[in-house]
Amino acid sequence: MNTQRVRWAALGGLMGGLLVLGVEAQENIPRLAPTRPGAPALTPAAPESAKPKTETASPTQVPRTTRFGATDWVEIGVVAKRLGLKVGWTLSSREAVLTDKDTRLELASDRLEAGLNGQRIFLGQAPVSRSGNLYVSKIDFERCLVPLVRPALLGVPKPAPKTIVIDPGHGGPDTGKVNGALGLFEKTYTLDTSLRLKKILEARGWKVVLTRSDDRQLKPGKQDDLQRRAQIAADADADVFVSIHFNSVAEQVEKVSGAEVYRFTPQHQPPVTRALRRLDDEVLNPGNGNDVWNSLLAYSIQRRLLRDLKLDDRGFKHDRLAVLRLVSCPAVLIEGGFLSNTTEARRIGNAAYRQQLAEAIANGLSAYASQLQSLRSGVNTPAG
Ligand SMILES: [Zn+2]
Repeated sequence: MNTQRVRWAALGGLMGGLLVLGVEAQENIPRLAPTRPGAPALTPAAPESAKPKTETASPTQVPRTTRFGATDWVEIGVVAKRLGLKVGWTLSSREAVLTDKDTRLELASDRLEAGLNGQRIFLGQAPVSRSGNLYVSKIDFERCLVPLVRPALLGVPKPAPKTIVIDPGHGGPDTGKVNGALGLFEKTYTLDTSLRLKKILEARGWKVVLTRSDDRQLKPGKQDDLQRRAQIAADADADVFVSIHFNSVAEQVEKVSGAEVYRFTPQHQPPVTRALRRLDDEVLNPGNGNDVWNSLLAYSIQRRLLRDLKLDDRGFKHDRLAVLRLVSCPAVLIEGGFLSNTTEARRIGNAAYRQQLAEAIANGLSAYASQLQSLRSGVNTPAG
């Protein structure tokens, strides 16, 4: 999916570099919260200028944050309290496990990857350990952990989805990934899986629109093609947008397999593929209007892919993908397996397997719709 993963803005370069130096270099210096040297962070006695901000605008917002570098952070005890979980430590101030009877959330300092009920989830910023405590970024708390762990805190949900736009990745001269030895093209299987998914969803009562229903490119030029796909979602007044792809790696091809589901990266966070923030991460894109729902949707689908197909868990991820950037409804991109892996490529080439894959995706969409229904009824059920 190399060409697919075109980030829309090419603002990296010098400006991005300056921001990285100006912001991230600061963040990498271990220091206490914005208090005078030696003062404990987040104490009520902290001087006025150092007091954490108080925000009450939304139920998803946390009552107390503190700033290190260019990021607002939430102390792990506050995170746990808001999510209704208890904190246990597996490594003092560095690794925490937040639990209740249905939930196990594992967070570690300096690690983007977290665990939720055995599922791999990738945060936007790695938690940090400071002054004997662990901090999660406010954006990850609000836009990732709340929707996944305690969606009832999101308040009034989106209306029940009625129209789903399915986007079969690539097409026409854009073949997508290729397994030369087996003669498999990504564009063929994205379309076939999408057609199967369309049938299943229609049988469940949804209106379905495909961005393409045959082997074609929508517009000459990758960027125009991807924008056209987002435009089709807008024209259809879609409630959900699902882009279907298959994956590939260049090295260790037989070791890498499994599914991953992408949401659009929230504003002010670097995509999962890059450690440091840069200038284009600061832009608010249309795709960011649904950050919390993107999270819930991506997690629900990844969960069903893992449960139904027993695929290797490559994770709930995020990236600033061009095809998701302009979509104004909840949207995800699914990587349904690796064409570069011989075993997995053979499965993808098998029609019965693609039917199972389409059913698993449909089950993820149904789970997401049920979640919204539960939220409207005031019932808080775990995502999935
Ligand atoms: Zn692709």
